[in-house]
Amino acid sequence: MKKRVAIIGGGASGMVAAIVAAQNGMRVELFEKSVKVGRKILATGNGRCNISNQKITIDNYHGHYPSFVKEALKRFDAKAFFSRLGLEMVEGANGRLYPMSLQSSSVVDLLHYELKKLGVLIHLDTEVSDVQPIGNSFKVNTKEFDFILIASGSLAMPTLGSSESGYKFARTLGHEILKPFASLVQLVSNDPMVTEASGVKLDADLEIFVDGNAKLSVRGDLLFTNYGLSGSAILDISRTASFALSHGREVKILIDLMPALSFDGLKSLLLKRAKLELPSELWLNGVVHKKLIKLLLHQAKLPISSDINTKTVNKLAYAIKNLTIKIEATKGTKSCEVMAGGVSTKDINPKTMESKLVNGVYFCGEVLDIDGDCGGFNLHFAWASGYLAGVDLSKR
Ligand SMILES: Cc1cc2nc3c(=O)[nH]c(=O)nc-3n(C[C@H](O)[C@H](O)[C@H](O)COP(=O)(O)OP(=O)(O)OC[C@H]3O[C@@H](n4cnc5c(N)ncnc54)[C@H](O)[C@@H]3O)c2cc1C
Repeated sequence: MKKRVAIIGGGASGMVAAIVAAQNGMRVELFEKSVKVGRKILATGNGRCNISNQKITIDNYHGHYPSFVKEALKRFDAKAFFSRLGLEMVEGANGRLYPMSLQSSSVVDLLHYELKKLGVLIHLDTEVSDVQPIGNSFKVNTKEFDFILIASGSLAMPTLGSSESGYKFARTLGHEILKPFASLVQLVSNDPMVTEASGVKLDADLEIFVDGNAKLSVRGDLLFTNYGLSGSAILDISRTASFALSHGREVKILIDLMPALSFDGLKSLLLKRAKLELPSELWLNGVVHKKLIKLLLHQAKLPISSDINTKTVNKLAYAIKNLTIKIEATKGTKSCEVMAGGVSTKDINPKTMESKLVNGVYFCGEVLDIDGDCGGFNLHFAWASGYLAGVDLSKR
């Protein structure tokens, strides 16, 4: 008799685990609450699916025990796995790996095809509401299985099928859940002058301060929006901001709007323009985006029509290179790409993804207390942890 495994969640990690377990002769049933598998994958990488990264290290991962990912990174090769499924891939900037078609649907279509080819029984539109251990087996909804794999993801973007159920099942089985919080998420500012700059996009240097202490600096895209700040640089520092805010700490972001110019270089440029004898708002026009002028004059504590002299030039150059914005909140679970926190990895075997507390129960993907940086690292961990679970399941 073939051993039976129930996989809860037909997302990135669940589909890979199902493929690997079925390839190795297991009887696999996949439960997916949405009407199709891989809905979140379709939305990844702005529809292009940044499936992995060629420059992965443990440093790209976070959680209470980031070294948990070591074995998964060592044993799973995303390029080899997806080539075997028939996916052509291209490398983009900073080691990011994409399907050559630049369409996430190519990835989902190939995974779905493989599942069907291997005879995995897919229950679509079927939410698992309960998981019960019965002797040496498990009851999932009304059916009995030898093993279960919880691959139900996190709460990030519930419109794409995310749910809390993985945390609920884990808790029922005696696992600890480390408080989930949004990561790779946009940040909210209540300053009307910040939101008035909505639409301004630039390349900037950013430094995040928590309770006045510098924590992290990044360089990249910054976008002013009608709620606050977005862009790749903001996503990169958002984990630090989100964690601090969830602990009631003060978060400020210091922005250098002109990283390409030194402070003295900027001052000389502004002084040269001072000779033009323009009103201050026009004097800055052409140097910075119009929508930023009010905010900069305010930060420099200068009136809208201020005299231009060495002192005002100093203050303005300082404001341009040290624009400080207080962050009130993140855009939360509804908008984030991933959730940090989740099922504590201290109770999971990093080589097999099996629970150390309950024999026969496995976890993989984002339901675990592991989250990655932006750049293909989250999908990579989802595939890799699903792969390890699938391999171990098929040895049972
Ligand atoms: C907009 C967006 C863009 C992203 N872009 C990227 C990117 O380009 N690169 C990258 O590396 N990462 C990206 N991510 C993150 C990445 O998509 C996730 O980390 C990854 O999908 C997690 O895989 P998973 O299998 O753990 O969970 P998911 O892929 O979320 O799959 C979980 C599945 O379980 C199902 N489910 C939940 N509860 C139940 C239940 N009780 N019963 C049955 N089914 C259930 C859900 O419907 C879902 O299909 C992005 C995320 C978002 C939201």
